[in-house]
Amino acid sequence: QQNPVTVLGLGAMGQALAAAFLKTGRPTTVWNRTPGKDADLVAAGAVGAATVEEAVNAGEVIVVVLLDHASVHAALDPVAERLSGKQVINLTSTAPEESRELGRWAERHGIDYLDGGIMAVPPMIGQPGASILYSGSPKVFDGNRELLESAAAADYFGEDAGLAATWDFALLSNMYAMFAGFLHGAALVRSTGASASAFAERATAWVTAMAQLIPEYGRIIDGGDYTTDVQHLNFHKAAMDAIVRASRDAGVALDVIGPIKTLIDRQVADGHGALAFERTFEELR
Ligand code: NDP
Repeated sequence: QQNPVTVLGLGAMGQALAAAFLKTGRPTTVWNRTPGKDADLVAAGAVGAATVEEAVNAGEVIVVVLLDHASVHAALDPVAERLSGKQVINLTSTAPEESRELGRWAERHGIDYLDGGIMAVPPMIGQPGASILYSGSPKVFDGNRELLESAAAADYFGEDAGLAATWDFALLSNMYAMFAGFLHGAALVRSTGASASAFAERATAWVTAMAQLIPEYGRIIDGGDYTTDVQHLNFHKAAMDAIVRASRDAGVALDVIGPIKTLIDRQVADGHGALAFERTFEELR
């Protein structure tokens, strides 16, 4: 018999996680602030709890999937005493400092706390390709591997509860910049009458090829040697100036590409024009 689990929060993600736990035959209790979201899960074998107290009493492991940091406190504060001695796995997206605050809150109440960042959309949960990043209590991570892996590949980053959120948001930053770059490129191409879909086909191949260079960026930044005999910042400045002119001529807003030009310009103005693009990292950190 597998340990019973409780899932608090039945938004799209909470429902997907609870369904994945149920699929492995694990006794699962579910709760949501607004009633009525547990119908499919109850039909699949979950126990629907009417109150958060009832839900928390039913499981030793409490998986929390709410909207944000404030909603986690709103749900858990009233049942803090009942959670004492239990394990809380918080998969709500919270900023690293908010995750750390929840870790301290849990410690004060005798709760073992594991924080997680979900790198998937709900339909990916329980499927290959989904991943969840964890940090906080190693005891909770090691003791619940089977539960965690029934939802997604599970990676542990360390005892500092803020680490998973840091990695989560770093990956999301990379993703948002990539998608924003696509939007800018699509606007440029659309100004000539071509479709965004035609651009998407080219952009997918291009971004995939360029992504192969990311490990080299990592090596150069970690080594701290930004000298280069290929494309230096002066070269990138000329390219970026031309991209900005092209964008202006096409009537495309500079909100996405403008900040990148500013960064490169500042590098060159500060005398780093002969160094590699990766030197820009020093400007950001
Ligand atoms: P939804 O908006 O679908 O659900 C939000 C949930 O939070 C609902 O169950 C809602 O309850 C509950 N909630 C909000 N405020 C409170 C409160 N004050 N007290 C109690 N419950 C509250 O979001 P998702 O399920 O999609 O996302 C949940 C978490 O997972 C978020 O932190 C999100 O960032 C993260 N995540 C989601 C991904 C996605 O693709 N969906 C991807 C990666 C992470 P009610 O029904 O009563 O409003």
